[in-house]
Amino acid sequence: MTQPADAGRQRMPLPLLRGQKALVTGAGSGIGRATAVELGRAGADVVVNYSSAREAAEEVVREIESFGVRAYAHRADVSREDQVVGMFARMAEEFGTVDVLVANAGLQQDAAVTEMTLDRWNRVLDVNLTGQFLCAREAVKEFDRRGVVPEVSRAAGKIICMSSVHQIIPWAGHANYAASKGGVLMMMRTLAQECAPRGIRVNAVAPGAIRTPINTEAWNTPQAEAGLLGLIPYGRVGDPADVAAAVTLLASDLMDYVVGTTIYVDGGMTLYPGFAAGG
Ligand code: NAP
Repeated sequence: MTQPADAGRQRMPLPLLRGQKALVTGAGSGIGRATAVELGRAGADVVVNYSSAREAAEEVVREIESFGVRAYAHRADVSREDQVVGMFARMAEEFGTVDVLVANAGLQQDAAVTEMTLDRWNRVLDVNLTGQFLCAREAVKEFDRRGVVPEVSRAAGKIICMSSVHQIIPWAGHANYAASKGGVLMMMRTLAQECAPRGIRVNAVAPGAIRTPINTEAWNTPQAEAGLLGLIPYGRVGDPADVAAAVTLLASDLMDYVVGTTIYVDGGMTLYPGFAAGG
């Protein structure tokens, strides 16, 4: 019998997010899916955003509802301002407010720089960076409107930006993606500085290599996985549940004093393992 990807993981014991309302973008698959489920397990009501994978998003909704919390799927392209504004307007109607935004939706459209069309460059920046900006802007407006509700959370709101180790590690053949994540780093830090005085916590989670559809070719053959493991001191490829756990903790009051920081969930990839045997 195959084990689930997070077999052996201790479940977080407390309903850390009881009564909170969370929105996860790109929640129909991979890291977003695991995160939406974990937030629901932690007691939050969850909006499951997707752009094309409706059935997968509906499945995630059913899984979240099994924890006795509310959830619904909402289609929106995060790079489209009108659709993002509409998504937050519906959330205000259905759930009354938003407490946690996980700006996770992202994609890769890789090419060597000489083959990188402007369309590919723009699409990746539009979704990975502008999409996070649009969602963060709408979330901050709502956090400001509502303020702190002490019985819900010590913060007026929490934003977790899904970044990547490539916010600091250059990545040949992926200039658009690396630029988008480098942009996420400084957007996150700037919003954190700007909004912290109003009780808003903005942070990022930066995954290393996680088994999801975005990077299948990097781990789906023994040779590919062996090459990848050479970059990971901890000796295993990550699972979406590894990232979901970090996001859930960051969203909770256990991390109330954590502001403007990136948590790397990367098995040590950012330790530059190429230098382990000297340099
Ligand atoms: P994934 O399984 O391919 O998920 C990407 C999600 O983004 C999908 O649910 C997709 O929704 C959604 N999406 C794409 N374009 C969108 C748009 N315009 N509007 C709304 N949603 C959109 O990949 P993943 O690995 O979980 O990636 C999630 C995030 O983690 C990304 O930001 C990625 O950069 C980051 N990350 C992943 C890794 C890794 O190793 N996997 C490492 C570092 C960072 P639809 O399917 O509905 O289109």
